[in-house]
Amino acid sequence: MNIKKYLACNETVRVMAVDATEMVQEIRKIHNLSNVATAALGRLVIVAAMIASTLKNEDDRLTLQIKGEGELGNLVVCANQKLHIKAYVSNPNVEIPLTKEGKLNVGGAVGAGTLTVIKDIGLKEPYIGTCELLTGEIGDDFAYYFNVSEQTPSVVSVGVLIGKDNSVSNAGGFIIQPLPECDEKTIDSLESINIKLPAMTELMSDNKTIDDIVKEATGDEEIKTIFEADAKIKCDCSSKRIENTIVALGKQDALNICDKQGKIEVACNFCNKKYTYSKEEVENLFKK
Ligand SMILES: [Zn+2]
Repeated sequence: MNIKKYLACNETVRVMAVDATEMVQEIRKIHNLSNVATAALGRLVIVAAMIASTLKNEDDRLTLQIKGEGELGNLVVCANQKLHIKAYVSNPNVEIPLTKEGKLNVGGAVGAGTLTVIKDIGLKEPYIGTCELLTGEIGDDFAYYFNVSEQTPSVVSVGVLIGKDNSVSNAGGFIIQPLPECDEKTIDSLESINIKLPAMTELMSDNKTIDDIVKEATGDEEIKTIFEADAKIKCDCSSKRIENTIVALGKQDALNICDKQGKIEVACNFCNKKYTYSKEEVENLFKK
């Protein structure tokens, strides 16, 4: 069980938290990500897992998009109510110098830009919220997003630690959101605790469990677990979806590619699975 939800502070505060170490390691492997790309896309995966844990219905879907002007380009993470997550970044190999403090420069690699949250929860139109990026560090940007776009002041802490051997040492995060009945005193206390709280990766490095970290971040020893589940990296691509992409190319372009290569090969952006079609199969797609 790597993702959990809690009620804290006399059930007036909601908390989501996740240990995403294995998921981020997997994303790194699938896309052969550089260190800074692992940290950036990993942080977005962590936020997506936590928000997806609030989806209620089986068909509900969540998409998080960051359009950055930095070298990484666009980052996209999709998740569903089953907590199956897929992720994509335009430029997975970007390496930029560390910050003055010797940390991976996620904000620099993402750059200025926008953050968009799309929730398809079975209504006529999906819910779409968007805001400017504050720092490009992902955690700050989502705290800002929750505040301005969803009017929910939130503490968002996310982190990915890359070890000396270039593997993911730990990765995780939490989101703390006061419920409407939460009083000012509790909100003030949450703020002052979290200003002083060490980074998520530092807390995880101390061998603290997710429960320990949530207790520390809320100042409440009596937190109540209300949900636990496994989030995992799983793509939902299919031959059918890829066929739609080929049809969208138009017959002439698709056949031109076939003429050059004798076949058409399309890789899924999210999991890199390759789908191959012969010229005859492509022609048949356009007959349907
Ligand atoms: Zn796929």
